[in-house]
Amino acid sequence: MNTAHETCVNRRFTEKEGSDPNMAKKIKGLAMLKIGEIGWIEKDAPECGPLDAIVKPLAVAPCSSDVHTVWEGALGERTDMILGHEAVGEVVEVGSLVKEFKPGDRVIVPAITPDWMSEEAQAGFAMHSGGMLAGWKFSNFKDGVFGELFHVNEADGNLALLSDSIPVAEATMLSDMVPTGFQAAELAEIEFGDTVCCIGIGPVGLMAVAGSNMMGASHILAVGSRQVCVDAARGYGATDIINYKDGDIVDQVFEKTDGKGVDKVCIAGGDVHTMEQAVKMVKPGGIISNVNYLGSGEHVFIPRVEWGCGMAHKAIQGGLMLGGRRRMEKLASLVEVGKLDLSPLLTHRYRGFDKLEEALLLMKDKPRDLIKPVVVIEE
Ligand code: NDP
Ligand code: ZN
Repeated sequence: MNTAHETCVNRRFTEKEGSDPNMAKKIKGLAMLKIGEIGWIEKDAPECGPLDAIVKPLAVAPCSSDVHTVWEGALGERTDMILGHEAVGEVVEVGSLVKEFKPGDRVIVPAITPDWMSEEAQAGFAMHSGGMLAGWKFSNFKDGVFGELFHVNEADGNLALLSDSIPVAEATMLSDMVPTGFQAAELAEIEFGDTVCCIGIGPVGLMAVAGSNMMGASHILAVGSRQVCVDAARGYGATDIINYKDGDIVDQVFEKTDGKGVDKVCIAGGDVHTMEQAVKMVKPGGIISNVNYLGSGEHVFIPRVEWGCGMAHKAIQGGLMLGGRRRMEKLASLVEVGKLDLSPLLTHRYRGFDKLEEALLLMKDKPRDLIKPVVVIEE
């Protein structure tokens, strides 16, 4: 599934500035060594294809997906693969055919970097370019953003200019958390006055709450347990909190909605049973959106009776986030004008590239006061 550009990513790379042209420039990166093990490694620096860019990270954030990848083996075995897919950076090199970016530009790097000329992109599903979910390349098919330099395919389509008004730490949330959480709200087709249940209020779910709120939801029932997330959810527009540890969330939703259920459900947390709960709590004609990664179990259950024996008009949509320059810059504009404050997500801030390992391990351990860690390398 790799493009020609990516397969050459780790080929030898020669520097112009006076060094021995036969000596490959080396970069350091925090890598998955094998399932269950991370460590610092050195690799040849990435090479820039004609449409591509080489970017130096200014700030990066570990993600739940990095944890799934390393410690749950979600993608299968990966050896010495540099991790990470959430970054803002500075462009250090562009290919000869890149028109919109130049060295020195500060950019938001989306987690998903599709091949925009693919058939899937033409069909409107760029995130699946090259195969299902294959628009996700960083720390999946190629080295990710936790290296001193990283490669971005199709720079004009995938990078987005970062405004000076957004601090780099907050801007990292635009790589994945905002586009994914907002997509949950978009896939649920939130309408003015909808009652929405957002299941999961980690950073993704919190952005589903914020997105639902902006799209006009009235009641937003947020499902989570940790106080730090509950407080943030209220700040982003949740009107009711449901703790899944206090009993069946379906019962709790019906209690809070006078037995009516909700118009829409956004799933950004839970397990394989969550879909079953969502089908039960959504009204006929409602929509369930899922952006949660379902990491275990063979099947997702749809309850026959509550799905109207197949005739309830309860739609289910699940999606991988979409990036692309236009979308990323539009989402960033919400932060620029002050309509979206990303600072409540950043509960743990680190400074310096070497702190990355600590930040990733924190994400793995998920202490109760964590929403999202960020590592600022350079401002
Ligand atoms: P977190 O682990 O931070 O958040 C998960 C949330 O789900 C928490 O609020 C947690 O509650 C809640 N939760 C846990 N178990 C249950 C349960 N049984 N019932 C209801 N709620 C529950 O994850 P993130 O926000 O970082 O990511 C959410 C998901 O989105 C992950 O699976 C991630 O891999 C996926 N993802 C998908 C992307 C896409 O493109 N579709 C992109 C990025 C991420 P608490 O902790 O308070 O107890
Ligand atoms: Zn992520």
